[in-house]
Amino acid sequence: MNITILRIGHRQWRDARVTTHVGLTARALGADSMLLAGSDKHVKESIEKVTECWGGNFTVHNNIDWKKRVVQWKKDGGKIIHLTMYGVSIQEALPRIHTDDKLMIIVGAEKVPSELYRIADLNVAVGNQPHSEIAALAIFLDRLNIKQGIDSFTRNYPGGKCKIIPQAHGKKVIKD
Ligand code: SAM
Repeated sequence: MNITILRIGHRQWRDARVTTHVGLTARALGADSMLLAGSDKHVKESIEKVTECWGGNFTVHNNIDWKKRVVQWKKDGGKIIHLTMYGVSIQEALPRIHTDDKLMIIVGAEKVPSELYRIADLNVAVGNQPHSEIAALAIFLDRLNIKQGIDSFTRNYPGGKCKIIPQAHGKKVIKD
């Protein structure tokens, strides 16, 4: 499945850490890329540094025009999933997503533009309580992986220089 994350409403400085974690979570759980609506080259650089060390092909695109990307995504036959506590439940949404879908998953920071609720093919709630874009994305991607019979945590990250040898105690990392 081709998955890209659209991070909308990013405020430089205030959201840098959370947006970086949105990207890292997306990468760790199998998404292909993150589009950042807002300019923050530090976020892009931090995530790219992680990819350089730990591998994989995750990419970050800085300062994109979210509306143009969303419209183009739909024109190209992609599906737009907007994560929001006001949406339909994740349990109801998952059967409407197919393994050959190309997904753009949108997460907000502050209040998201109201037109997004209309443009999205599905507004999906990960529970109807307010929590966090990182948590919502992690749970959504994990459930999507489970639906496809994929274990979120056993994928390969080709080309990485660093690899963890799991330990019950202590840390072991081998570096190329
Ligand atoms: N008051 C904001 C609003 O009206 O959208 C909520 C901002 S919340 C801190 C940031 C983002 O987290 C939201 O835009 C949404 O993507 C995600 N989020 C928070 N709770 C969620 C939930 N229960 N289900 C799905 N996404 C959620």
